[in-house]
This record gives sequence, C-alpha cells and structure tokens, in this order.
Amino acid sequence: MSIKVGVSACVIGDKVRFDGGHKRSAFLMEDLAPFIDLVPVCPEVGIGLSVPRPTIRLLDRGETIGVRLVETKDSTADYTEKMVAFSQKKANQLADMDLCGYVVCAKSPTCGMERVKLYRENGYVASEKIGVGLYTKELMERMPWLPIEEDGRLHDPMLRENFVFRMFALKDFYDSMADGISRRAIVEFHSRYKLVLMAHSC
Ligand code: SF4
Repeated sequence: MSIKVGVSACVIGDKVRFDGGHKRSAFLMEDLAPFIDLVPVCPEVGIGLSVPRPTIRLLDRGETIGVRLVETKDSTADYTEKMVAFSQKKANQLADMDLCGYVVCAKSPTCGMERVKLYRENGYVASEKIGVGLYTKELMERMPWLPIEEDGRLHDPMLRENFVFRMFALKDFYDSMADGISRRAIVEFHSRYKLVLMAHSC
C-alpha cells in the first residue's frame, strides 16, 4: 500500500492561485515526492472559483454570525457555505483513503493551518494568530490524528523531520491494523515505537 499524502494543489506547482500562479515546494516535489503518492486538492477551484479570481479573506462578523469566507473587495460575495460543504465532503473521501499526511499552503484563508489573517468589518486585522483556513479546519476536525504541515514550516529541519516521521509512523499503524485491530497488533506497534513515545512523554 502506498503512502498517500494530501497537498494543496498550488504547492505541487499547479497554477491555481488567485493570481494564476503557484507556490511549488522544492522539498516536497524533489525530496519527498519519490517516496509518497500525492493527492492534490485546490478547494477554491473545487467550489467553482476561476483562475485568476478576486482575492478572498476571513472576515469576523461577530459572535452571532461568526467567521465568513468572503471576497476582499465585496464582502457580500460569501463562499462560506460552499466551502464548508466542499471541505466536509472532501475530508470524508480522504479519510476513506487512509491518508498519512497533508501539506497545506500557509496563510491562505482556505488552506492555511494557523495564523491566518482574520479581518474585522472595519478592515483592520482582528488577529494574525487565531485564523485557520476553512478547508484545513474541516480536515483537522475530521482527522485529528492526521499529520498536517504548512509548506513554509517544512523549511525548518526539526519540523520537517517531525512531520516525515509522523507520516511514516501513521502508515505503519494503518498497515499494522490492516487485518483488524487486535491486542497483539497494538502491543507490537507500541513496542516498535516505545522509545519514541517515551521521548515525547512528559
Ligand atoms: S492555497 Fe489552497 S485554495 Fe489557494 S490556490 Fe492553493 S490549493 Fe487552492
């Protein structure tokens, strides 16, 4: 069974960004790709947006309405429902594929994993530290065990090693349980990762 890894389509070099460009990751495509099967997804194209397209952003509309995914220059163009529906459906499909990891594009209001800019109605940034892209939020809720990293963070050797290790360990876990979850399979898996578990235990 191959190691399937989801990825924001622009990170493999597909020209699907709002400006018709891409954000190809050299590490992913040159170092990691030979060992894994990439599953590219562009959620914005997936909900029918064009390339190029107007920029979108996360807008905090307060406690009652919540965070919305809207066009930057026309906040009445609201893609929240479409994006949530697409993301839930796609996350369910990916969960059935035994995905072992996901590399998302940083800062995107759709794919960003953390610190995505969250705007207020007055145009100011509410916080750069709490926004999460709508698509990736659904992925994380549907598969909280899934190793997810942002393209930029993979430049950091420690984060990169951690991500790759977790990805291969998850693959090992899936393989170990392929014939059914049994006490023996769990004990053998834990025995193989005993030192890793101890190293991360506090
Ligand atoms: S960040 Fe996500 S939504 Fe934006 S272009 Fe890349 S894959 Fe598409």
